[in-house]
Amino acid sequence: MQPSLEIIYLHHSGFAIKTEKHLLVFDYYQDPANSMTDLLDQGQTTYVFSSHSHGDHFNQEIGKWQKKVAAYFLSDDIIEAGGLKSVDDCKLIYMKPYESKEQADIQVATYGSTDQGLSFLVNVDGWRIFHAGDLNWWHWKQDTPENIKAAQDGFAKELALLAGLKLDVAFFPVDSRLEEFWAIGAEEFCRKVDVKHLVAMHSCGKVWQPAAEFPEPGKQVAVWSPGEGGQSLKVLKSEF
Ligand SMILES: [Zn+2]
Repeated sequence: MQPSLEIIYLHHSGFAIKTEKHLLVFDYYQDPANSMTDLLDQGQTTYVFSSHSHGDHFNQEIGKWQKKVAAYFLSDDIIEAGGLKSVDDCKLIYMKPYESKEQADIQVATYGSTDQGLSFLVNVDGWRIFHAGDLNWWHWKQDTPENIKAAQDGFAKELALLAGLKLDVAFFPVDSRLEEFWAIGAEEFCRKVDVKHLVAMHSCGKVWQPAAEFPEPGKQVAVWSPGEGGQSLKVLKSEF
């Protein structure tokens, strides 16, 4: 049977992913559909990730799951924000950008961000999953030319480190506050990286619909833009 995974949208940049043997949770902040209670009860080996300490990517509530969680992979800026209180140290794995850690049957590599913290590349059950955190081309058009240029250069620098990666699933911000520039980061990312399934996140209230030929003519990336917490998507493994 063709391997598959299921992605459950929580809220904002928060997602749960069920693979054959694992449950992964990224950037939990809110869960309006209360999906987590059921997911945590299914008995899979569970790993929880937080890309940085900002309130829309990290919530102390994840500590309440610790009996059901094998390990937490957390950006180390969360330590400065007080850490994940009430969780046993042996379950906490703090990471800086550009590191790798292995734990039982999961490999986690970190890349940079253009905001705070880091982005995650996870290898588990044969799947390569990338969560960008707040890595994005933050093109605020009202900003000064210098800041706009710095945002572009900073993004290009991080993207050069990701170029050529082969990813089964990638979560990437498409922030509607950037107005007509809200998807330029995701477009550039999908041009430079081999992505089978792109999941739009951090959209701040609007649902993004990609152009017919996303990211460019001759290169097709499947896109999922969830709008409501609790929505889910089944992804079948496809070859590169
Ligand atoms: Zn954010």
